[in-house]
This record gives sequence, C-alpha cells and structure tokens, in this order.
Amino acid sequence: LFGYVGIEAVLDQMRHKAMKTGFEFNVMVVGQSGLGKSTLVNTLFKSKVSRKSCTPNYEETIPKTVNLQSISHVIEEKGVKMKLTVIDTPGFGDQINNENCWEPIVKYINEQYEKYLKEELNINRKRRIPDTRVHCCVYFLPPTGHWLRPLDVEFMKRLGKIVSIVPVIAKADTLTLEERLEFKQRIRQDLQVNGITVYPQKEYDEDAEDRILNDKIREKIPFAVVGTDKEHQVNGNKVLGRKTKWGIIEVENVAHCEFANLRDLLIRSHLQDLKDVTHNIHYETYRVRRLNESNL
Ligand code: GDP
Ligand code: MG
Repeated sequence: LFGYVGIEAVLDQMRHKAMKTGFEFNVMVVGQSGLGKSTLVNTLFKSKVSRKSCTPNYEETIPKTVNLQSISHVIEEKGVKMKLTVIDTPGFGDQINNENCWEPIVKYINEQYEKYLKEELNINRKRRIPDTRVHCCVYFLPPTGHWLRPLDVEFMKRLGKIVSIVPVIAKADTLTLEERLEFKQRIRQDLQVNGITVYPQKEYDEDAEDRILNDKIREKIPFAVVGTDKEHQVNGNKVLGRKTKWGIIEVENVAHCEFANLRDLLIRSHLQDLKDVTHNIHYETYRVRRLNESNL
C-alpha cells in the first residue's frame, strides 16, 4: 500500500492550489531621490515577466518626509497569478538632517506585521490572511566608489533586524567595471565590520546545495544595477537599454550589469525563500515580542 507515495500527484495538487489562490510578493525600494528607484521598478515590471493586468494603487501616505506609495501588478504565468507589489519610499535621506529618517520605514514594516498578527489572533480567522508584509527591502547605494555612508550603515543596521535587505549599487553604468568590483569589495567589507547582515544569510542556508547557490549570490552582493524605461534596437532585437557615451548598456545582459541577477533573485530563484524568511524569522521575532508584551 505504501510502496508508492505518488509524489507527482502531490506536486500536481500543490500546483493546482497555487493556481487557484495565486500568491503575493511585496518588495520595498529605499534610497535617496535620483538614484533610479522608480526607473528600476519600471524596469522590473517591463523585463521578461509576462503580465496580464496592471493595477497601480497609491496609498499609505505617511506624513513627515518619507512618503510610501505602493504599486501592484498582477503577473500571470502558466495559469499562476502572482501579485507583485512594490512599495516606493520617495524622500528617504533627502533632508539635510537625516536623523531618524528610517523611522517611517520601520513603522510601516512593523505595521504590516501587526496587521498580520491581528488577523491570526482573530477568533474568526480568514482562511487566507492577506499578506502585506515586506518580503524584501532593496536598498540603493549611490555609485560613489567610496565606502558606505553613516546613513547607509545606520539604516541597514536597524532594518536588517526586521526585514531581508538586498543592497544594490544604483546607476552602475556611471562606474567602470573595475570601479564596480572595488566598490563592491569595500561595501562587503563595510557590512561585515559594522555587523550588518543582508539577505541571504549564511545561518539560514538549509543544506549544502543552498550554501553553494547562496555563496554565489553573496560573492556578487551588492548587485551593480542599471535601470531604464527605454527600449533600443540591438542587432535587430528590441532590448531594454540605456544609451551612454560608450554605447548601449543592455540592462538584462549580465555582461553589462547585474539587473538580471537582482530580478532572478527576487522573482525567480528566491521568491519563496524570501517569503519563508519573512514569515519564520522576521515575523516570528515580531510575534514573540508582541505576545510577551501581551497587551494586544
Ligand atoms: P528615484 O528618485 O530614485 O525614483 O529616481 P528616478 O527613477 O526618478 O531616476 C532619476 C534620474 O536618474 C532619471 O533621470 C533617470 O532617467 C535616471 N536614471 C535612472 N536609473 C538610471 C541608471 O541606472 N543609470 C543612469 N545613468 N541614470 C539612471
Ligand atoms: Mg522615484
């Protein structure tokens, strides 16, 4: 009777279920104005993910200096629907005095955990709790070629404790390949010296296979990205690209920049892991802390 489990059938059921319910994935982009956040978000939506419908919805305008706006697109592939939401944070770090400028962002992230917790604790729990939790925070570093700035250190130190952070070098086309390599090395060193942990963390690798895959990513972090809202003709093909004085930088070409690495990490190879880390590590930490306070 138990000789044949029928794993194929189980996988079919999981697939079928995913098709019916779809899934949600929420990414936040953070960095100073002009670093190309909005452009990169557009690039992400335009790049090779087929999509059926777009529903921009602007909400959650938090007073003070940082406004949070979210845009959702429903991406449909092979019958599975994915609602990809990007939360943009215009205004972060734009003031002369940036003291506590991460507060509205911390607050937003915690509010989403709180919402989820409230739903979980409800007597009449929904069968599926709407998930607005931030699964990944993409942090834009200016392409200075120097070191991390105090603002970057302060932000990532704090946020790294409550959300998965993926740092990127913005507008990498303004640096030469050598400059990029050196800058990346310095940043990795700076992260380590300051005890900042970014995604994917070594301690959450589950097995040797994970470790090999994630080590490759860790070697490349921070990804040097280029965004664009234009398509150009290259050898008779339309490609997303950016015209520079050296020629056209193809944003999806890994020989030109690491946009594709970022996209693949977010919405291909690590989407489920980012959701798992959010739920099992970050949300869990929040939940335990709140239940210990026990004044819900
Ligand atoms: P945001 O304020 O961070 O949202 O930045 P925007 O996306 O509005 O971009 C600011 C300016 O930088 C625009 O003129 C963009 O065309 C330009 N830009 C965006 N991404 C890149 C990039 O990867 N490289 C270069 N050189 N310019 C970029
Ligand atoms: Mg913007």
